[in-house]
Amino acid sequence: MAAKLIDGKKAAENIKKELKKRIAKLGFKPGLAVVLVGDNPASEVYVKNKGIASKDLGFHFELHRLPEDIDEIALLNLIDKLNQDKKIHGMLVQLPLPKQINESLIIDAVRPDKDADGFNPINMGNLLIGDNKVIPATPKGIIRLIESTGIKISGKHAVVVGRSNIVGKPVSILLQQKNATVTMCHSKTEPLEDHTKQADILVVAAGKPRLITKDMVKKGAVIIDVGINKVMGKLIGDVDFDDVRKVAGFITPVPGGVGPMTIIMLLENVLQCIWLQGKIKTV
Ligand code: NAD
Repeated sequence: MAAKLIDGKKAAENIKKELKKRIAKLGFKPGLAVVLVGDNPASEVYVKNKGIASKDLGFHFELHRLPEDIDEIALLNLIDKLNQDKKIHGMLVQLPLPKQINESLIIDAVRPDKDADGFNPINMGNLLIGDNKVIPATPKGIIRLIESTGIKISGKHAVVVGRSNIVGKPVSILLQQKNATVTMCHSKTEPLEDHTKQADILVVAAGKPRLITKDMVKKGAVIIDVGINKVMGKLIGDVDFDDVRKVAGFITPVPGGVGPMTIIMLLENVLQCIWLQGKIKTV
């Protein structure tokens, strides 16, 4: 029997309805600022989608565009201004940044309680010690998608392919917090299938089109495909969807799986920031 589809669009729509209710009770507009440096086409698309979703939820949204050749000081000055701006409750600097900019210096400069992406080391450190403050949006969305299947994470063997700071590492920590036993795989893992075959829950964030095939997956497993790869003008994931769905229990499509959840989790993070700033009592 073919795997059940984990519908990220539908899950995101449901969360959006909840967020709308919470925003209506605030009495003010949540403010999100996005800083975009240069004209990376993929970043342009991501930022545009963040703007559309923000406005749809009644946010105050600001896009700050800076030229590709901007220096660190100018970027740090803008972050400092946004850190102090009372209309702005959450912000993010769209990555990647041009080569002349030290990315970690920029991430460090974002006030932790305005850090909508949750990439600041204070938020990452809190996640590591189990004192979650702002959780990066993609990993947060992945956990919600796994939970939407009704499968209990506790006691399961979860395998994460990819160890990036924005997906692989934080999602492995969140899975551990939910009492999964977690195996981390990466580009030097050999052979990869020996690990992926053991997974009750398999999260793939490698950025390698169709890396995971049917023979690498345990029957009935939950498969979360984070990858976004453009192949011959088409978006595909890191999982060979048509092949793997024959054996998996649940699977996310690409597009329409993790992607829509990432955006809504980012907006939810702005409400989390508002709470961290002491402007609302509960989240
Ligand atoms: P990254 O390039 O920073 O890291 C990739 C990781 O995969 C590395 O840790 C590397 O060791 C591992 N890897 C690479 N090749 C491998 C292989 N053959 N076997 C095992 N591991 C391998 O990537 P990232 O930023 O985490 O993004 C991963 C993918 O997820 C990309 O396609 C990206 O576009 C996508 N992504 C999607 C969303 C979303 O919202 N849907 C969000 C973030 C990233």
